[in-house]
Amino acid sequence: MKTIKIKDKVFSVSIPDEKIQEAVKNVAERINWDLAGKDPLFLVVLNGAFMFAADLMKSVNIPSEITFIKLSSYQGTSTTGVVKEIFGLNESVEGRTVVIVEDIVDTGFTMQKIINSLKEKKAADIRVATFFLKPNSLQCDIELNYVAMEIPNDFIVGYGLDYDGYGRNLKEIYTLIPEKAH
Ligand code: 5GP
Ligand code: MG
Ligand code: MG
Repeated sequence: MKTIKIKDKVFSVSIPDEKIQEAVKNVAERINWDLAGKDPLFLVVLNGAFMFAADLMKSVNIPSEITFIKLSSYQGTSTTGVVKEIFGLNESVEGRTVVIVEDIVDTGFTMQKIINSLKEKKAADIRVATFFLKPNSLQCDIELNYVAMEIPNDFIVGYGLDYDGYGRNLKEIYTLIPEKAH
């Protein structure tokens, strides 16, 4: 079993590169079919989605605009919890077909926040393309149009996803090996 160590944690390979690429191509084909003639704006959520977005967009063959956003996350008051704000969105989304490109939807709160913000900015058609979905963790009623893969509630790294800033460059997905109870 191929394992890697990042800082204090050990991970084992769980999804090979070929499986990832196959899933990306499937999503691209569906987007090409659905959004032909719709002049989509792809909104890539940094940092995690950079690798998925790069692979995806190489197989999207319809005229498309691509831009990048970041979410600032800081601790709010005890009642609001973690507050996230979007920055980097300079393009007008009013009346447009917008495809949010994300690495992973876990609870869904991050995605819900982005969707609501695009609704406020009057996007005409808001779609979501996420590489991973953890269906057992989802807590929000959001429409996820293009999901490349569903996975269990384990912590993963690789293919854009990090542990404490590291591991984003790995082309396979690795799953955290839980520490043995002592
Ligand atoms: P949500 O708001 O859907 O709960 O969380 C989404 C964010 O949590 C993702 O964009 C990602 O940064 C982080 N996240 C959720 N699950 C994982 C995981 O298994 N591995 C890593 N590296 N990040 C995760
Ligand atoms: Mg993300
Ligand atoms: Mg992270």
